[in-house]
Amino acid sequence: MNKINGSNKRCTKCGEVGGKDGCGFHKDGRKKDGLKSQCKICRLHSGREWRKNNREKVRQVRREYCKNNREKVNQASRERRKNNPEKVRQVNRKYYKNNPEKVKQASKKRGKNNLEKLNDVYIKKRLSRQFNIISKDTTQQLIDLKREQLKKYRLAKQRRKELKQCHN
Ligand SMILES: [Zn+2]
Repeated sequence: MNKINGSNKRCTKCGEVGGKDGCGFHKDGRKKDGLKSQCKICRLHSGREWRKNNREKVRQVRREYCKNNREKVNQASRERRKNNPEKVRQVNRKYYKNNPEKVKQASKKRGKNNLEKLNDVYIKKRLSRQFNIISKDTTQQLIDLKREQLKKYRLAKQRRKELKQCHN
C-alpha cells in the first residue's frame, strides 16, 4: 500500500480504489489528504472531454475577450512574440502543417481583394509614378514583373498584419 499515491483512496468519479487501473492521484495541497478527489486518468479524461464538448464555447469566450480587450491582447501577444520568437515560428509551422488547405484558402481569400486591384492600368500608374515611365512605353513584361513584385510585397505585408491580430 502506497499512501502517498493514494492507492487506498477511492476515486469520486470512477469509484475505483487507487484510481482507474491503479493510476493513483495527483497531489493537491488544498485537500485534506493532500490528493485530488478524482484519479489521474479521470482528471485527464474530464479535462479533455470538457474541452472537446465545449470547444465552440471556449473559442467564443476567447473571441469575446479578444474583441473587448484588443489593445491589451495585442500588447500581450506582442510581448510574447518578442520574448519567444522561436515559439511563434513553431506554432505557425505546426498550424500550417496541420491545416495547409485552411491556411492557403484563408490567405487566398484575404489576398484576393487586394490582388484583384493589380490590373494593368493600376500597374502602369504605379510604374509611371515610381519611375516616370510614360504609359505607352511600358511593356507587358515590365507590367508583369511589377505585378509580381507588388504581389510579394503585399503578401508579406498581409502576413505581418495577421501576426498582429488575435490568436485563436
Ligand atoms: Zn477515477
